[in-house]
Amino acid sequence: MKNNKKLRKWLDDFKLDHPLVIAGPCSAETEAQMMSIANELKGSDVSIFRAGIWKPRTRPGMFEGVGSIGLKWLQKVKKETGLLTATEVANANHVKLAIEHDVDVLWIGARSTVSPFIVQEIADTLKGTDKIVLIKNPVNPDLALWYGGIERLYSSDIKKLGVIHRGFSTYSKSKFRNNPEWQIPIELQNKFPDLPLICDPSHICGRRDLLHDVSQISLDLNFDGLMIESHIDPDNAWSDAAQQITPKVLIQLMKELKIRKGAFNEESYVNKLAKYRTKIDIADNDILEILSKRMIISDKIGKLKKKQNVAVLQSKRWNEILGKMILVGKEKGLSEDFVLKIFKAIHQESINHQNKILNS
Ligand code: PEP
Ligand code: MN
Repeated sequence: MKNNKKLRKWLDDFKLDHPLVIAGPCSAETEAQMMSIANELKGSDVSIFRAGIWKPRTRPGMFEGVGSIGLKWLQKVKKETGLLTATEVANANHVKLAIEHDVDVLWIGARSTVSPFIVQEIADTLKGTDKIVLIKNPVNPDLALWYGGIERLYSSDIKKLGVIHRGFSTYSKSKFRNNPEWQIPIELQNKFPDLPLICDPSHICGRRDLLHDVSQISLDLNFDGLMIESHIDPDNAWSDAAQQITPKVLIQLMKELKIRKGAFNEESYVNKLAKYRTKIDIADNDILEILSKRMIISDKIGKLKKKQNVAVLQSKRWNEILGKMILVGKEKGLSEDFVLKIFKAIHQESINHQNKILNS
């Protein structure tokens, strides 16, 4: 698949002067719930109403969606509010039913993108239709798998394509439900700059207090839109209660976000600068994260040395590290002087930590 300006035609056809917003509940629950949310979103910047009808739950026994009855409610939402509709499809039968009920946008969930069999089945069933199809990243941080999903749909002649970044699961603890790993969507964006890229801060954050910051980062990185879960009574939602917000809060959030108008194709200085600065902020945070991890290891060595009553400074080992790092640094375009300064500072901090441990 080649990048090509036509990839964003469906998005340009919305003729928006702000990012595309897709909003609605995690799950369709009742007709009244759907209609009340949709009526409050009507007239806002939201263009597409989302609702999960078939819910992929990690563990059985949880609410698994209302099923095809929910498609009738989506039809009613469209008829009464004029909003386009979107739902998740995970097999050929879902695709057929969604098409029969005139759903406008179909998305492939993160648990489906991991399976080439499922994506191929969906792509084969969609062949010949002109639906907008959005592919969420796979749950695991694997860019090739994400590319694979895009390529399978593109090969089935689906030209109204887009991708949704919803973060990646990790075993280690994080404040996010799914780590954003921004470098992955950035790499995808570099490869396909015209493929519409939408951020789903709801599934990245897993909690509503983080939504604003994650949404802002995505807009600063020139994402084309947002998909945000919105529920009339978030705390009592049947799924993903902690991350949903009321339509009123959503509308307020959209007002607060700094939207870089005209950022879609325009390569103006201000937009480029904002994008680079956000990347720098992410890189700086990564540096601190990795330094703190290094210090934790160093503390463990300190404890070991204390047990064996060994001196903190082991100069042979240290000289080896320095020599190696200077060589690696050179290969990466970093001057010897810079590498020396940084590693001396890191080393000093390690020694301070270990001295504290030895004398505790
Ligand atoms: C959803 O959008 O409600 C959903 C299940 O998302 P994901 O596939 O990203 O987990
Ligand atoms: Mn959800």
